[in-house]
Amino acid sequence: MKVFKFGGASVKNAESLKNVVQIIRKYEDRLFIVVSAMDKTTNRLEAVVKHLLTRDAASFESTVMEVEHFHQSVLKELNLAGSEVLEREMEELFGLLRKRYHTPISEHLGFEYDQVVSLGEVLSSKILAHVLKSEKVEAQWLDARQLIRTDNHYKEGKVDWDKTTQKIQSCIGEFPQKKCFVSQGFIGHTSEGFTTTLGREGSDYSAAIFAYALTAQDVTIWKDVPGMLNADPKYFSNTQLLKSISYKEAIELAYFGASVIHPKTVKPLQNKNIKLYIKSFIDPESEGTVIQAEQAQDQLIPSFIVKKHQILISISANDFSFINEEALAKVFERFYSNTIKINLMQNSALNFSTLVDADKVDMEKLIELFKPEFSCKYNENVELLTIRHYTPEIIADLLAGRTVLLEQRSRQTARFVLTK
Ligand code: ASP
Ligand code: MG
Repeated sequence: MKVFKFGGASVKNAESLKNVVQIIRKYEDRLFIVVSAMDKTTNRLEAVVKHLLTRDAASFESTVMEVEHFHQSVLKELNLAGSEVLEREMEELFGLLRKRYHTPISEHLGFEYDQVVSLGEVLSSKILAHVLKSEKVEAQWLDARQLIRTDNHYKEGKVDWDKTTQKIQSCIGEFPQKKCFVSQGFIGHTSEGFTTTLGREGSDYSAAIFAYALTAQDVTIWKDVPGMLNADPKYFSNTQLLKSISYKEAIELAYFGASVIHPKTVKPLQNKNIKLYIKSFIDPESEGTVIQAEQAQDQLIPSFIVKKHQILISISANDFSFINEEALAKVFERFYSNTIKINLMQNSALNFSTLVDADKVDMEKLIELFKPEFSCKYNENVELLTIRHYTPEIIADLLAGRTVLLEQRSRQTARFVLTK
């Protein structure tokens, strides 16, 4: 079995859905297909959640309607035989979604989020399965909300690997004749049967979960880029394709912020030595990138990762005491329990410096969190530049004329916090 993952951009409209079917048709293998929500549906559903929680009935309805019309118009454009069944199913789904407005809101806001936001993948996978059928590819639709078991950490469910593996294997075992399966990325369920999500952009991770459970031959993530590049073409010219890189290198790059794959994707594949391909759905015949166990010919060419919109925060104790292990433990605890992700950190005798994504923190709240023992100073509008496999010349070239607020170097990686 091969696992294919198609992200939101690859299924953004009727035409792109047809392109996905063309790709699938080229393969004789047994395929397990994981699909994301179409285009920006997840963002729209996040807006639906916001209106649900702020009790804004008019905006809630208009946003639901937007999502509904979008999917209906795709179906119309596809003009599929027998799509009345699907239309009815969609009506039912949107009916249930509208009902949520009149159901008492759970204390757990993450729960509300997951019940709503998960619907994007349910819709896209149903549509894709239907398009495949109309193109004579017999595809079995499977509900990831019954296959991937997580804990009840809503918005970022933690996978129960044993239960998940059992469920996926026994489900696939029921369809020995089927050549093609279609399921959803990003979503799972708790032991009580409530829907969970795996974190934004989590569909890559879902593909890795299914591949792990099925001990798949390999996984292909189909993207709108030719593979994993050594830099984001938005910021750099003359980018190079990384043809073959190791699992370790891929994890490092994803961790530092390369956005091509979700950082959690690699580990389950590495654990079972399953190759991960990144290929272009625009040019499916081209080679792309393979991520696999370390090879002698791995390219360790310099890679560049830029993270914009960062805030550099400096935390110090008000009584002039050291930032020692005890103080660090307190600082980390506050970050962790408020799910604030740290992009880089460094400390001196009196200061702990850290970098966070500007759009994910409310600085006023953060300052409150550290009172009364600590105070925080911060610089907004800074960026983080990471260079893997750097040379002194490359660093000199990239830093010319820039102001460096903080820097870190290890043997393979150099990181700089720069003002804009
Ligand atoms: N649809 C989800 C998101 O946009 C998951 C994914 O696309 O990977 O975050
Ligand atoms: Mg996506």
